[in-house]
Amino acid sequence: MPNPPDNLRSDRASASVEDYIKAVYRLQAEHGRATTRDLSQALGVQMASVTGMMKQLHAAGYVDHKPYQGVELTPSGETLALRVLRRHRLLELFLHRTLGIAWDEVHEDAERLEHAVSERLIAKIDAFLGEPVFDPHGAPIPQNDGTVPELQGRLLSDCPPGHCGQVLQVSDKDPALLRHLADLGIRIGLQVRVLDQAPFGGPVRLQAAGRQIDLGRQAAERVLVSVGSCEP
Ligand SMILES: [Zn+2]
Repeated sequence: MPNPPDNLRSDRASASVEDYIKAVYRLQAEHGRATTRDLSQALGVQMASVTGMMKQLHAAGYVDHKPYQGVELTPSGETLALRVLRRHRLLELFLHRTLGIAWDEVHEDAERLEHAVSERLIAKIDAFLGEPVFDPHGAPIPQNDGTVPELQGRLLSDCPPGHCGQVLQVSDKDPALLRHLADLGIRIGLQVRVLDQAPFGGPVRLQAAGRQIDLGRQAAERVLVSVGSCEP
């Protein structure tokens, strides 16, 4: 009898397990730890639900408890997080490149599809796209061997006047921010020079593509630029 496709096998993690593991991974990357409170906020669920799920994830070998710090992914938890992120980012790029879906619209569909798509289909999408390294928002795509391409940059909000660099990555969480950046002509790969950082939370003034752009502070905090030098 033929094997069922891998996304129909019962040993594949459920969508909610995958979402929890992804949230733990992101919180660990951003804050160095994932507490019950942070997870409940990130996922919009009750603290009691988080506690219950963490017991399941611990029993399944995906997380360890850290006293006073919440939980930490085990190696198998990290492997699962990277598999899900890989599916998510490849799907975003596929939707963007092949269907022409705008960068502010791909995230939501990828959030759903990432749980349903089979590993076989993901391998085909990866090959079709030429084994890409970055998604439409510049986020590194975890590779099939479990490595994550390195991305070194600095937030635009932290760049001193005179800093020059290319836009490497923008946050994919807020479609309105992505539309705003697109309206201003800010895209991945754009060369920018910081002209001024206004005080007291004021905007960041940029020179890019021959014109000046005033970018609000909250937006500048979500744009990563390279630390290399500018082209003349
Ligand atoms: Zn996304």
